[in-house]
Amino acid sequence: MEFDVVIIGAGAAGLYALHRVRGLGLSAKVFEKGDGVGGTWYWNRYPGARCDVESWDYCYTFSEELEQEWEWTERFPTQPELERYFNHVADRFDLRRDIEFNTRVDQARFDEDQNRWLINTSTGNTVSARFLISAAGCLSEVNTPRLKGAETFAGQQIHTARWPKGGIDVTDKRVGVIGTGSTGVQAIPQLAKQAEHLFVFQRTPQFAIPARNRPIDADQLEELKHNYRERWELKKASPVGMGRRPPEVSSALEVDEATRTRVMEDSWALGGPGFAGTFGDVMTNAESNQITSQFVLDKIRKKIDDPSVADSLLEIDHPLGARRLIVEIDYFETYNRRNVTLVDVAAAPIEEITLQGLRTTEGTYDLDLIIYATGFDGMTGALLAMDIRGVYGLPLRGKWANGAGAYLGLVASGFPNFFMITGPGSPAVFSNVIFSIEQHVDWITDCLGHMLDHDLDRIDADPDAEAEWTRQVDEIAAQTIIGKTDSWWTGSNIEGKPQGVTFYLGGTHTYRAICEEIAAQNYEGFVFRSVDER
Ligand code: NAP
Repeated sequence: MEFDVVIIGAGAAGLYALHRVRGLGLSAKVFEKGDGVGGTWYWNRYPGARCDVESWDYCYTFSEELEQEWEWTERFPTQPELERYFNHVADRFDLRRDIEFNTRVDQARFDEDQNRWLINTSTGNTVSARFLISAAGCLSEVNTPRLKGAETFAGQQIHTARWPKGGIDVTDKRVGVIGTGSTGVQAIPQLAKQAEHLFVFQRTPQFAIPARNRPIDADQLEELKHNYRERWELKKASPVGMGRRPPEVSSALEVDEATRTRVMEDSWALGGPGFAGTFGDVMTNAESNQITSQFVLDKIRKKIDDPSVADSLLEIDHPLGARRLIVEIDYFETYNRRNVTLVDVAAAPIEEITLQGLRTTEGTYDLDLIIYATGFDGMTGALLAMDIRGVYGLPLRGKWANGAGAYLGLVASGFPNFFMITGPGSPAVFSNVIFSIEQHVDWITDCLGHMLDHDLDRIDADPDAEAEWTRQVDEIAAQTIIGKTDSWWTGSNIEGKPQGVTFYLGGTHTYRAICEEIAAQNYEGFVFRSVDER
């Protein structure tokens, strides 16, 4: 089978990419590993899963009709609501007929002579395409630590991103959760309500801000619908693609204590991920960060009854925002329940999984169910899980052996006619990702339109332009607190992974302007081949 475009993945990125390439009159096929659309919101069905970007920001902006007909019900949408949204989009734009479900892309090779990509799938088929677009996702390759003895465990073990559609009944079970990142923090309060006993194995305590989730009433919904275009302008001007206004106080240090406290109280009362922007310099000024961090620690401490548990939860070794800020609902209060035990596995590391449960250096825990809320091989994991080969058979795994990068995060040199949506070198998930996805897809499809209009049949990135872009990405990251703190953002959660921030941290507004400028400058830094040169 031959297509103009093959797209990998039917999440937020793949669905929109399919819609846009169809608009160019190109034939397209999407291969999707799961049996439904939605990507992240298809796979992450664990109890409590919900988006921590507000629903009115975490949605497509490309269709005003879609904006007007879809009715969000909560400030922070749950996984089922988001899965319904992406299914609605798939139906509304008639996307399903070009999606092959239950099909993984295993290998993609660029055939120099044919100037086409040859794609092998898990169903044993090979198809070819002029263009290959990865919409494989930044957080889709799960990370399950290889713990000694895991295969001997008599109970059930599951990663949160592989939670079954029918759910797991934890009633009367002794449950262990490993991991207290965004996922664990969402799942723990829900699991605690049902489990006979919940043991939380925490290695690194983290900051978490109350979500202050609430239903959206009819008046607010009307107002939201009325304001979508205004929000769109705000999102475009925002460094993280969110439709909120910039902080009223640019630095915690420039106001008196009473004003500072009032600003932090207001921000705390509002809740949600915007807390990292309480002052304009929280992420860049150590003193401002320290003031804000201390405020949060004091607030959280008041929620926890047992001071020693509070100590374990609050011995935080990094500045606020240096790891992805967690948004929580009833998380800290959960530790006041009698059926919940916090186990500090930094102090007493996990030694092994046994037939009956888990053993740390200080104790044994009998368990029926072990839940791995242990995150993902972010940014590059899903791309490198496939065997992607560019010119002269160059493997992407080889190219990125010492660190990943791509020109604008869009095209990796040596991999012609292969585009990545939210690839390494782009702002990706360091932003309201669905807004970044739209920007990427729009740029890619405009570029494809340019190629069709000008009889160009190959695009590649100039290696020098790519190297210079990667240098800029590294330079910006080195100036931030993010680059100095171990987390999945730096790849430190995956053994053997090259360390470093692969996000463009200069702001999505700046990134967008650079992408637009480069396109306007005749795609400076990209190398095209015209049909006549063949
Ligand atoms: P994560 O932030 O990487 O957290 C993984 C957790 O597992 C950490 O607490 C980690 O401890 C722990 N862990 C890993 N291996 C371990 C081991 N061998 N022993 C003990 N503990 C271990 O993963 P995540 O919580 O899935 O979140 C990943 C990202 O997904 C988030 O940052 C966010 O971008 C996104 N996300 C978003 C939402 C949302 O929108 N609400 C929800 C979930 C996830 P260490 O920190 O010590 O490594």
